[in-house]
Amino acid sequence: MEKKDLKSMTLAELTEELAAMGEKPFRARQLYQWMHQKLAADPEEMTNLSKELRERISREYIWTVLEPVDVKISAVDGTRKYLFRLEDGNVIESVLMRYKHGNSVCVSSQVGCRMGCRFCASTLDGLERNLRPSEILEQIYRIQRDTGERVANVVVMGSGEPMDNYDNVVRFIRLLSSPDGLNISQRNITVSTCGLVPEIRKLADEDLTITLALSLHAPNDQVRKTLMPIANRYGLADVLDACRYYFERTGRRLTFEYSLVKGVNDNLEEAEALARLIGDCHGHVNLIPVNPIKERNYVQSNRKAVEAFKNHLEKRGLNVTVRREMGRDIGGACGQLRKSYMDRKEG
Ligand code: SAH
Repeated sequence: MEKKDLKSMTLAELTEELAAMGEKPFRARQLYQWMHQKLAADPEEMTNLSKELRERISREYIWTVLEPVDVKISAVDGTRKYLFRLEDGNVIESVLMRYKHGNSVCVSSQVGCRMGCRFCASTLDGLERNLRPSEILEQIYRIQRDTGERVANVVVMGSGEPMDNYDNVVRFIRLLSSPDGLNISQRNITVSTCGLVPEIRKLADEDLTITLALSLHAPNDQVRKTLMPIANRYGLADVLDACRYYFERTGRRLTFEYSLVKGVNDNLEEAEALARLIGDCHGHVNLIPVNPIKERNYVQSNRKAVEAFKNHLEKRGLNVTVRREMGRDIGGACGQLRKSYMDRKEG
């Protein structure tokens, strides 16, 4: 029989599991808190559980724990980029960013990605596999243990398309926000998607209060198709309908991410088209000067173009922020750390 993954279970599931082993219900809560609150890295740490139970846990279940293989710390702003090894030898990356309003962790949801966005490093080698809920959680747990500082915000914006690993990501959100776990408010959790329409609609019905971020990157389907293959499957009209539905169901304002690429999507007509497109979508815009990757020849819009684009959107009544580049001195955008590690290993 395949072993079960303890850290991916809800408290109710764990209670049932332990009952089947002849353990009392309060043991399940103790175990859950060890895993999700005290962030135990090893079953041996759980000293108020019997030795026998700890041994059964080690022997009969999957105990997920990530091993840091590399940590890069920015001298500029304290950002930390972690490379973690999974039990099957795959590596993933996670980032800790320090803001005035608290620490924020950016997690990966898959090993690699199959969405194929042209400017993105995570997708260059395709999808390796989905991450389990425990493997997404562990990225946060190891970082909080490593720094000794509370993680206040979580963004699912690392490698992978979260809506392509839907069930595991939704379970991850419920575990992360559970009162017997880290109890991170769902309002402080953001999930970013390239726009899988059926999954956005399903997510809207989950009764969650997380923020949804949509990777837009173009004001029309024509330009979007040149940057994001997913645009061939779902047109912008349908994607934005799903976003309006998300707002209706959850009352949560959306974030529209727009990576500015010089000469591709950054002129003022495009800003105007964008304002028209999302004017009634209850969202704010996050502009990201594209982070060039060596495998493609996309160039970052210059600062003047970014400013002009931003001003135009603001003139049209939109709320706009420009993403501050964190950890500039420790290299590249999401997926680039892993990519360079893999290239080194293979080359
Ligand atoms: N699969 C999710 C999460 C991806 S990463 C999604 O598509 O939304 C989070 C954001 O960073 C996305 O908006 C993604 O398009 C953007 N991104 C990825 N690589 C980038 C790069 N090199 N420069 C700027 N933005 C990038």
